[in-house]
Amino acid sequence: MKSNKLNILKTIIQDVNDASGLEQALNITVQRIKQIMHVDAVSVYFRDTKAEQLVLMATDGLNPKAIGKIRFNFDQGLVGLVYKQAEPVNIKDAHSHVNYCFISETDEVSFHGFLGVPLIQHRHVLGVLVVRQTKQRRFSPDDETFLVTLAAQLAGAISHAEKMGELTRLFDGVEGHSFNMKGLAGSPGIAIAEAMVVFPPASLQSVPDSRISENEVDEQISSFRQAVSNVENEFKELSRRMQGSITAGELALFDVFGLMLKSDSLIDTIIKRITAGQWAQGALRETIAEHVKKFDAMEDAYFRERAVDIKDLGRRLLMHLQMQQTQVAEVSAPVVLVGEEVTVSQFAEVPLQYLAGIISTKGSASSHVSILAHALNIPSVMGIDDLPVQRIKGQKIIIDGYSGQIYVKPSQAVLDEFNQLIQAEKQLDEELVKLVDTASETLDGLHIPLQVNTGLLEDISPSLKSGAEGVGLYRTEIPFLMRDGFPGEDEQSAIYRQVLKSFSPRPVTFRTLDIGGDKSLPYFPVVEENPFLGWRGIRIMLDHPEIFLTQIRAILKSNVYENNLRLMLPMISDVSEVDDALLLIKKAHKELISEGMAVPYPQIGVMIEVPSAVYQMDALARRVDFFSVGSNDLTQYLLAVDRNNKQVAGLYNCLHPSVLHSVQHIVRVAHRHKKTVSVCGEMAGDPASALALIGMGVDSLSMSVGSLLRVKRVVRAFTSAQLESLLKEALKMENVKDIRCLLNTALENAGLGGLVRAGN
Ligand code: PEP
Ligand code: MG
Repeated sequence: MKSNKLNILKTIIQDVNDASGLEQALNITVQRIKQIMHVDAVSVYFRDTKAEQLVLMATDGLNPKAIGKIRFNFDQGLVGLVYKQAEPVNIKDAHSHVNYCFISETDEVSFHGFLGVPLIQHRHVLGVLVVRQTKQRRFSPDDETFLVTLAAQLAGAISHAEKMGELTRLFDGVEGHSFNMKGLAGSPGIAIAEAMVVFPPASLQSVPDSRISENEVDEQISSFRQAVSNVENEFKELSRRMQGSITAGELALFDVFGLMLKSDSLIDTIIKRITAGQWAQGALRETIAEHVKKFDAMEDAYFRERAVDIKDLGRRLLMHLQMQQTQVAEVSAPVVLVGEEVTVSQFAEVPLQYLAGIISTKGSASSHVSILAHALNIPSVMGIDDLPVQRIKGQKIIIDGYSGQIYVKPSQAVLDEFNQLIQAEKQLDEELVKLVDTASETLDGLHIPLQVNTGLLEDISPSLKSGAEGVGLYRTEIPFLMRDGFPGEDEQSAIYRQVLKSFSPRPVTFRTLDIGGDKSLPYFPVVEENPFLGWRGIRIMLDHPEIFLTQIRAILKSNVYENNLRLMLPMISDVSEVDDALLLIKKAHKELISEGMAVPYPQIGVMIEVPSAVYQMDALARRVDFFSVGSNDLTQYLLAVDRNNKQVAGLYNCLHPSVLHSVQHIVRVAHRHKKTVSVCGEMAGDPASALALIGMGVDSLSMSVGSLLRVKRVVRAFTSAQLESLLKEALKMENVKDIRCLLNTALENAGLGGLVRAGN
């Protein structure tokens, strides 16, 4: 495709993305295509699944009165043919085609040339895009490629616009209008609360809408004026400092900024928006976006460049506004935290007792944010990328962390239904609490120790209350993530000691620092093309022995009193990494002994989370004392599915046959060497997966504290022989769906279906 066409394509998609609703998006689409392709009519048909028909949704060229009225059955006419075949149909003379079907309302009689392409998203045909020509015309391969490329991108943009439109209706107060969206199930549970939007500072496009009352208008305007005056002074100061270093012409550029700041169109528009009830930051975002768009569309390269200056100006104004208007509101009632990419530090902005749920437009269940939510028993929905976060503030939201569904401004009937489910959950929790002091044993007395995954001091108390038999995974990177520099040996040691002491005499497994991937420390940024295949975990530690040794010394020192420590190495992909790490651990141990500290030498294990380690089990078993399966990463690497990528999240599944067979291999080899195997990925806390893991002979399971009693209930409901035979059946199956169905049915039959879905 020629670069000119590529540019056109980009601008159409951009305009559709910016549209305020579906109708506007479709109108833009048909008008622009008609101009660009020099055709006589363009129309878009959408699928109406209930009626099994394709409905005319927009047109430029056909009779507009036919919109919403013209319907084709799925196999009717040429439009139906495109839909059925899910392929382009390019016909010089439509009238001569057997599928041609004349519909009088569209005035279609006069069209001969026909090119139709399907609108496909995630394998589903959502509709059909058609261009028509009065004369006979066979469209060129170039035309066809253009339309196919455009349609492929339009499907996503149109579905986004549809959601925006629904939301607009919702916020415009259409009575009884509610809205639901599906993301990815993050951590389980249900909550109902108002949305609190968090957004990164200094990011103009992330600023949310926020309605203000009439008596707040003056205050917002004066904040804005103050920001303008601060930025003016800033430019004067910059210009003064540059004098003598740059030419007068270059210096004049600063005056351009000053002029922009004084321009009525900018200032007045912002003030108008504030007066109409938008807060200053939101008014700034909208106005700057409008100006940037105008400049971007200009022919002249000089003016197009000004878009960059406007953005810069916008960012500076925002910075000054944010210095005056703190982002964090006082929270005194439960909220659902909503953000484009909710971060660990944003958790801290809300007191835990008020954090009802989390919705993040990016990430998935195995993202670390979601794992943390799970640890704190907070439902989360991830990867809900169409959600216009800016517009959601203050809305009542139901979040269903089991299904990944959210309901914005739900109707009373939906609220009643979910309140019932919440009640059922409460009942289930009350039932589960009774299990705290019972043994985690199968019906025939096989003991399966259940431990917790942690990394936050906040979870120690709930973990202890849950009756956990220790910590199977302490993610040491979490305290590192919450600081602005590497913590020193003593600071680390104090944290580790507190954890060991709290759980003593139960064992605590510390994992050495596992940064990289999606856990980059703000003060040690690692920027890579493929972070999950890059510098991660043990690889970083071995390249930075000074950081590794400090941590090992801190860990070993913290164990002097309790002696309940086990040490575990993450991301092992080669035995040489274990050899090198063991040398460093021995070195640290020797140093501490020679410094007079009687630190015990701990048991050392490795995480099996990379496929190469699965096939080196024998060699690894000769070097270490225990294994722990990191099923989150093992699944990601075995299936080649990025654990954070929503696009492929449907392919990420820890019950994939290859994952089950791998874990079984790990268990067999480890047991041959008389070494134990724990599973500490999210799989261990999933009741259905737990059935398979126990059937395999896994020695212990480590999970988020919220899952522990659920899994205990499962352990206590089956005999080990039942689980072995269930596993045998699962291993014969060839796909995830069948395996999941087999295990869920076993849970339902045991009366435990409520553990894997909402309600009981
Ligand atoms: C895992 O990969 O399964 C695991 C427990 O480690 P993390 O989720 O911290 O990468
Ligand atoms: Mg991992």
